[in-house]
Amino acid sequence: MSVHNNKKALKQSILTGGCLCGLLAYQVDNQFSHFYLCHCQQCRKLTGSAFSANIFTAPENIKWLTGCEKLTHYEHPERAFSKAFCSACGCALPFINKSGKSLIIPAGSLFDKIKNTPEANIFVSEQAHWLAAGLAAKKFSHFPREG
Ligand SMILES: [Zn+2]
Ligand SMILES: [Zn+2]
Repeated sequence: MSVHNNKKALKQSILTGGCLCGLLAYQVDNQFSHFYLCHCQQCRKLTGSAFSANIFTAPENIKWLTGCEKLTHYEHPERAFSKAFCSACGCALPFINKSGKSLIIPAGSLFDKIKNTPEANIFVSEQAHWLAAGLAAKKFSHFPREG
């Protein structure tokens, strides 16, 4: 627990997050130890995308605001690999890793903007072969050829 000198600082350090359907919401203190983009095969499967964006913090650094009974967990039977998600909308949500040492926050589940940026790309040997081309592809602020 960190001690804050004034209420403004305290307020700025609290971040909120939750799922898309609104059933689940949480708050965390902005005391993060790591922020990784993980390109491993399991993260690509569980996100259905190119990589996961995971923030690491202390296991006790979370307060569920609503719906934590709707949280579903998946544990990989062999590897230290987990996911927590909303049972209604499937959004990835924070969970404590198998070792019990860290709370993993999927960065995309945060509602608030954070100052932290990813410090490393990990498991790049397993990176999706289409990622680099995708990042270099044409960019639109909407669907192409619409409206
Ligand atoms: Zn949901
Ligand atoms: Zn991974």
